[in-house]
Amino acid sequence: MTPGAACLSRQGRDLVMDGVSLKALAAQYGTPLYVYSQQAMQTALRSYQQGLSGRSHLLCYAMKANSSLAVLQTFAQAGCGFDIVSVGELERVLAVGGDPAKVVFSGVGKTRAEMRRALAVGVSCFNVESEGELEVLSQVAVDSGHTARVSLRVNPDVDAGTHPYISTGLKDNKFGIAHDQALRVYQKAASLPGLQVTGIDCHIGSQIVEVSPYLDALDRLLELVEAVETSGIALDHLDLGGGLGITYTDESPPEPCDFVKQLLRRLDERGHGHRKLYLEPGRSLVGNAGVLITEVLYLKPGPKNFCIVDAAMNDLVRPAMYEAWMGIEPCVQRDAPPQVWDVVGPVCESGDWLGRSRALAVEAGDHLAVLSAGAYGMAMASNYNSRPRAAEVMIHDGQATLIRERETTADLFALERMMAR
Ligand SMILES: *Cc1c(COP(=O)(O)O)cnc(C)c1O
Repeated sequence: MTPGAACLSRQGRDLVMDGVSLKALAAQYGTPLYVYSQQAMQTALRSYQQGLSGRSHLLCYAMKANSSLAVLQTFAQAGCGFDIVSVGELERVLAVGGDPAKVVFSGVGKTRAEMRRALAVGVSCFNVESEGELEVLSQVAVDSGHTARVSLRVNPDVDAGTHPYISTGLKDNKFGIAHDQALRVYQKAASLPGLQVTGIDCHIGSQIVEVSPYLDALDRLLELVEAVETSGIALDHLDLGGGLGITYTDESPPEPCDFVKQLLRRLDERGHGHRKLYLEPGRSLVGNAGVLITEVLYLKPGPKNFCIVDAAMNDLVRPAMYEAWMGIEPCVQRDAPPQVWDVVGPVCESGDWLGRSRALAVEAGDHLAVLSAGAYGMAMASNYNSRPRAAEVMIHDGQATLIRERETTADLFALERMMAR
């Protein structure tokens, strides 16, 4: 079993989440089915909160990882803020009663309409990613009579040689403002009407399982903080983004609590202990709290053995898109010796696979659980091949609640119109 997924265990042969049999849920709700442990989400959040307790901070769940309303509700009720990347995400936060004053708005391509809405509801901060965006935000703020609090997303350009897994903190990607341009852009931000400079931020990548790249990025940011403040612009908060990894196979990332404590210690050592620390975790709050249940449709043995299941890349795209390895476990263990299978879906693409070369004792009609599927699973699901999207269930106190109904085929084309002739 995935060591990171404490919500999963075996009761006899049965795979259970927080005591609830996944096979029973598959029978009740059908497949493909996402199942989440609310408790696992709350435990992950509490670990961050414990690390931050006693310190000035804002924890913003990066909701692109899983934006289902019941998931957002879970975090909002626990006092968590949100990192959003679109007005659609903002409306979801508002729909669950989330506090817009705890929302940070990230993303390289915010539209004027999105800025207007975010200003009207009073988001905490815009994480601005370019000079062009800064100018537009200033105009929109002035036109609408609001002040936009801004933080500049700086690209710390953390050394790729040292940290090859970092994908968004380097010079040659679309995110952020180059480190060597940042001071000039801060001065510009301070001179534009309608803007109030409040912070600095970065987000260096995803599925990072060590603390050292964060400490390097923090050092780089602090150099800038000092330069910006020396130039007469006060900064209130420092946002280190998200990106903390989870255990998919044998990774051993730090616990959020320890991770946060190491960041705070570095801040203290560098004389910045008074700063308000913002964090934007996504995957590490939800990833190991979810599984995707799928039914085995056919076994197709041959030179390569294929196990064809009813979940596909449209339900869970991480393997197809990132060649991601995700654990696959039978919902009910069999006695038979395992054979090696490629677990593939029904979509008409060779890239439609969930797992390759997996040792499984399996028969048609069995159910499999794809593990660690709570993050970037349902949130990235599509209707490719006209496949209705999966249902979702949340477990709380040993009870399962349907939190998203399965799409119907009528839903698939409800918004479409035929030509008059
Ligand atoms: C995606 C993203 C996050 C969350 O990343 P995880 O790897 O899921 O923790 C946080 N901040 C920003 C700006 C992002 O784009």
